[in-house]
Parts: sequence; structure tokens; C-alpha cells
Amino acid sequence: SILADQIAAGEVVERPASVVKELVENSIDAKSTEIDITVENSGLKLIKVVDDGNGIDSSQVKTAFLRHATSKITEQRDLFRVRTLGFRGEALPSISSVSNVLMKTSTGSIGTQIEYKGGKLVEQKAAESRKGTTVEVRSLFYNTPARLKYLSSPNTELAKISDIVNRLALSHPEVAFSFISNGRELLRTSGRGDLRQVLGAIYGVKTVAKLAPISAEGMDINVAGFVSLPELTRSSRNYISLILNGRFIRNYPLTKAVIEGYGSKLMIGRFPIAVVKVDIDPALIDVNVHPTKQEVRISDEPEIGKLIVGAIKQMLSDKQL
Ligand code: ADP
Ligand code: MG
Repeated sequence: SILADQIAAGEVVERPASVVKELVENSIDAKSTEIDITVENSGLKLIKVVDDGNGIDSSQVKTAFLRHATSKITEQRDLFRVRTLGFRGEALPSISSVSNVLMKTSTGSIGTQIEYKGGKLVEQKAAESRKGTTVEVRSLFYNTPARLKYLSSPNTELAKISDIVNRLALSHPEVAFSFISNGRELLRTSGRGDLRQVLGAIYGVKTVAKLAPISAEGMDINVAGFVSLPELTRSSRNYISLILNGRFIRNYPLTKAVIEGYGSKLMIGRFPIAVVKVDIDPALIDVNVHPTKQEVRISDEPEIGKLIVGAIKQMLSDKQL
């Protein structure tokens, strides 16, 4: 029901940045190589995501907007080996219940255009379209004034969108991203799989010159990434990005492990810039803890923490720092 979708939207679609996250995750799951994101007025007027992924077959488009309709999981045991970013089937129905959504999608043959307003189907028709999917979200939260009121200033909301886009680009250097806000390009990545290039696009070349690669391997665990030399620090932990099996996560013990790797080389209250990618067997993670999927349970957390600490210590000693 529309009411159930609006309730779910309260959990999944907290703010414009959550819409961007869910749409781009869908584009990544659809194996896109290029994802172009446009926002106007911090996403409240428009959020547009264009991808060149698999698209949705015309017979499945309406289903995609149904609650708990996911094409990504078919059996219960799939829940314990999730490889896609999405799997709960909540994003499209939630977003469309609190906005006006226009989707154009094609698997390569004849495409489909579908429009929803406040969760109600407005129109579905055949439409010419290249392979891929375009989603336009307009008038976000127009029918939930309380949610609108609770949003921060336009600049803060835009910063949150930018932060999400940056983290998605860091998680997927193999995808070419562009991000345009009110006609201004805020990010462009090459899609050539080069994490250093993505870091350069986000933080600038001067900063990237002060980042060093790290890596470590354990039993079924692979740790890799870039961390700053101790001379380059920030006053907040927010510049530490953790990416677990291609999904950026919030995880306090692993964030602490990054800091611990520096030992006494960080001044009190200073934190490194870091992008740490951890790849492990999906069976060892439970991503179904929270609707936004940013919190996960990891069975091998202490082991991963040790590998991170070791990789950073190794880098520092290699550089005789
Ligand atoms: P979930 O991602 O959890 O499966 P969503 O509500 O985000 O649920 O999406 C529902 C379904 O719509 C997906 O399972 C997928 O089949 C389809 N879908 C959504 N966005 C795209 C896209 N950009 N490209 C291809 N398929 C998509
Ligand atoms: Mg999804």
C-alpha cells in the first residue's frame, strides 16, 4: 500500500542523499559502466540518474515498483551471500511514494517509460530508449511536509549528496561517474579502475601525492587501499572510508583499526585520510541489519582489524616514518 511505502520511505529515504544512494546502487547492480548524476536545488527539485546498465524488461517495470520486489534475491539462503548492493526491494516504491518519478528503461530492445506520483501509477508506455535506465525524481517530499521541514540547509544537503557520490565513486573506480549540481560539475571519474584517479578527482592531486598504497592478505580476506602519510591529517574521522565487498560501510572497530595503525604518529584529535577496501567471502557478512545497509555484521571483524593495523604499520616502516 502507499501508506506502507511511505512508512518504509521514512527509513530508506531520509533525505535527498539517500535517494541518490539508492538510485546509484541500483545502477551499479545493473552492471553500468557509466553513471551520470544531476541534481537541482540540492535534489529537492530534481535528482536524475542516467546509467548504461542492463535495464528492466518492459514486463518487469511495474513489478520493480512493488514493495519487496527485488530481482536480486530469489531464495532465502541468497540473503547470506548477497553480492549486490540492493536486495530488499524497498527503494523504488519508497522513493515513488514521496515524489514524482519518471523512469525510462530498456534492455536493448523496445524500452519503457513509466511515471509515478505519490506512489500512484500515472502512465506506462513503450518508449524509444538506448540500453540502460534513466530515473528522474522530482518534487521530493512534496507530500510529506514534516520530512521537508526536518531537512538541513540546502548547502548541507548538497554536501551530503556529494559525500555519498564520492564514496560510491571510491567504491567503484571501474565505473565512470559524473556529478553535476545546478549546472556545475562537482565530480568526474575515468572509470578505468584506478582508485588513485578517483582520489585525485575528489581530493585534488596535491593531496593524492601524500597518500600511500597499503595491502594485506589473510585467510579469505583481502585488504587494499590508500592512506595518508602522517603529515596529512584532518580534524575528523569522516575522511576514513571503509569499503566492504564494494559497499561503503560505517564500522567503528575498523575505523579505530585505521587510526591504531598510525600508533603515536598521529597527533591527538587528528585523523588520516584513508580508503580501505576489504574483500571477504559474502557468507561472512550479514548486510541485512539496517534498511540503509550501511551497518553490517562481520564475523571476522577482529581479524580484519589486525590486517588493517598491520598494513598501515608496514607502509610506515617501508617509508621509514
Ligand atoms: P532492490 O535494489 O533492493 O532490488 P529496488 O526497489 O531498489 O530494490 O529496485 C527494484 C528492482 O528494480 C531491482 O531489483 C532491479 O531489478 C530493478 N532496477 C531498479 N533500478 C534499476 C536500474 N537502474 N537498472 C536495472 N534494473 C533496475
Ligand atoms: Mg535498490
